[in-house]
Amino acid sequence: MSEHTLTVAGVAVDTRHWIGGERVASAQTFPDISPIDGSTIGTISRGTAVEAAAAVAAAKAAFPAWAGTSRAERARILHAIADGVEKRIEELAIVETTDNGALVRSHRRGVMPRVAHNFRFFADWLQSLDHEDFDTRGHANHVSWDPAGPCVLITPWNAPLMLATWKVAPALAAGNTVVLKPAEWSPLTASLLADIAAEAGLPAGVLNVVQGYGSEIGDALTSNPDVRRISFTGSVATAKRIAASAAANLTPLSLELGGKSPLLVFADADLDLAVDLAVEQYDNAGQVCLAGTRLLVEEPVADEFTRRFVEKASALTQGDPRDEATDIGPNIHPRQLEKIDGFVQRAVAAGARAVIGGHRKDGQYYAPTLLTEVAQDSEIVQEEVFGPVLTLQTFTGEDEAVRLANGTRFGLAATVATGDPGRAERVTARLVAGTVWVNCFFVRDLQAPFGGSRLSGVGREGGTWSFDFYCDLKNTVTAPNGWTDHG
Ligand code: NAD
Repeated sequence: MSEHTLTVAGVAVDTRHWIGGERVASAQTFPDISPIDGSTIGTISRGTAVEAAAAVAAAKAAFPAWAGTSRAERARILHAIADGVEKRIEELAIVETTDNGALVRSHRRGVMPRVAHNFRFFADWLQSLDHEDFDTRGHANHVSWDPAGPCVLITPWNAPLMLATWKVAPALAAGNTVVLKPAEWSPLTASLLADIAAEAGLPAGVLNVVQGYGSEIGDALTSNPDVRRISFTGSVATAKRIAASAAANLTPLSLELGGKSPLLVFADADLDLAVDLAVEQYDNAGQVCLAGTRLLVEEPVADEFTRRFVEKASALTQGDPRDEATDIGPNIHPRQLEKIDGFVQRAVAAGARAVIGGHRKDGQYYAPTLLTEVAQDSEIVQEEVFGPVLTLQTFTGEDEAVRLANGTRFGLAATVATGDPGRAERVTARLVAGTVWVNCFFVRDLQAPFGGSRLSGVGREGGTWSFDFYCDLKNTVTAPNGWTDHG
């Protein structure tokens, strides 16, 4: 085993970049810390502008051949990658859990199977993509999806491999080559993906993975003129930097950003269902972009809702995410924990009441928290916390519900709990959100558009929206009678 390999629960992970089909080490490294117990898992190659340039150059060199590969061949390789992911679900699950602290049971049963599905879905989509043809005064229009070129994909730590492959799969399917930059707090499964892709026969340079701090390697990736698409999932602050960097070349961007989504509970809702939906918002220790962190509850049922919520939330088991019985694991990093606690302490100082939680626990764990008596314009209601912290406000009637729900700078998602289909339709029509769930949460089909309004993002991912983003659409118009007869 090389000095560049670390092992997690017996799984070997290469700590170097993957550039042009080869492992490349940087002179500098950075430590990868497990949020479970604060232990150092290993040290990872710390990329700079040099590795960024090398990875984009490798993607550029590999592009013409990959773009020219038949759809059937690309689809075959994507399915082979999915096979490789499926064979290694257990390994990917434990490595990801050790790296980012999310529940191993979710990784085993939901997230890693979904990673494989990301590849299968876009492989099949590619096969079914029909060229569009239509006629204009006898002229034949032919619309085709041409691959755009090298793509830079930058991803966060809260669902590392799932979110990375949600970009990698359509980008590759469309005939592009990619440079993937995973988050420095969860670098490991991207490295395993490189192994899996190579084993599946993906040609060298088609998928490149560079590691490192975003502040050190990011700009060199996003300002490179050879990059034809940038797809980013992460925070609003980073998105603004990336947009500024991409502006020099007008590189098209897809941005999936943060949220402060509302969960509206009307008095006519099935209250047990509403409570279940609300408690679900603590998933992944609250580190979910879509989380409905603002509980908006109609006045007449607010006390009963709160009573049932507290009962249910208090029964959650918090602890080691490698344990199947655990409901809530740790938060990703001491800095994130400090950020979360800062939000909560400032809210309490401003008059909020912690009905449950409101404090750290041992290690990197934060007590599931519900804050009431919060003002609509307060920081805790307006800003994304990205931890297990919910607020509860009450409302009377649909108008006030919609006003509160839409009253932030975000617009990623919303959940509506109501027993009245007419109300669901009226309220949904007025909500500013990329996804609205009615009496359910987190049901996500890959063919649906996904993304946010306002500060929650630019563009949509999923099905045809991903393909349109990763392609240069071309319309060819052919006259009916211009051919010279060479026969
Ligand atoms: P972040 O913005 O700090 O980091 C995301 C990625 O950007 C990392 O890989 C990081 O290294 C990189 N980066 C940092 N600075 C960069 C720069 N100057 N140039 C290029 N890349 C740079 O976000 P995070 O803390 O990792 O993730 C949490 C955020 O992501 C939350 O706001 C959450 O809501 C959001 N998120 C959104 C979605 C969505 O689909 N809308 C999904 C998950 C997470």
